[in-house]
Amino acid sequence: MIPRRALFLAAAALALPACSAAAQPIPSAANQARYANDPWRRLTEDQWRERLSPMAFRVLRQEATERAGTSALNNEHRRGTFLCAGCGLELFRSEWKFDSGTGWPSFFQVIRENVGTKQDLLLFTPRTEYHCARCLGHQGHVFEDGPRPTGLRYCNNGVALRFVPAAA
Ligand SMILES: [Zn+2]
Repeated sequence: MIPRRALFLAAAALALPACSAAAQPIPSAANQARYANDPWRRLTEDQWRERLSPMAFRVLRQEATERAGTSALNNEHRRGTFLCAGCGLELFRSEWKFDSGTGWPSFFQVIRENVGTKQDLLLFTPRTEYHCARCLGHQGHVFEDGPRPTGLRYCNNGVALRFVPAAA
């Protein structure tokens, strides 16, 4: 057991002045382990196929990427929360969304305890894939060319998200 204070000091020593806590690695394994026995983990491939649209199934369950510019969420500017379209876990707040010009909904911050990450070697350049920590549905890739304060760009498939407007 490491004393809490020691952990805090270690974290503080690692943080560069320009970086917020958000730029530190996501505790992927711990996040996913929290949902290891969750009912969402027990759905079969066929059950997912029944629940999701064909495109959402391809993205969430097979790591496909939707065509750029096809999601209505690109133009979603209301206050609210973006949830995993698979299981409804909250992933992004509207105030973290920005227009990246890529044609995919983009965010500079994520609800860190609700995602897992892995290295994706599908392209020549390794990319960091991220997914819902509960149902493991693929969301998108995170890049280090985002705006302040995090410098991160979570490039998300719109079909993998569901937007819930804040109560008026
Ligand atoms: Zn999910």
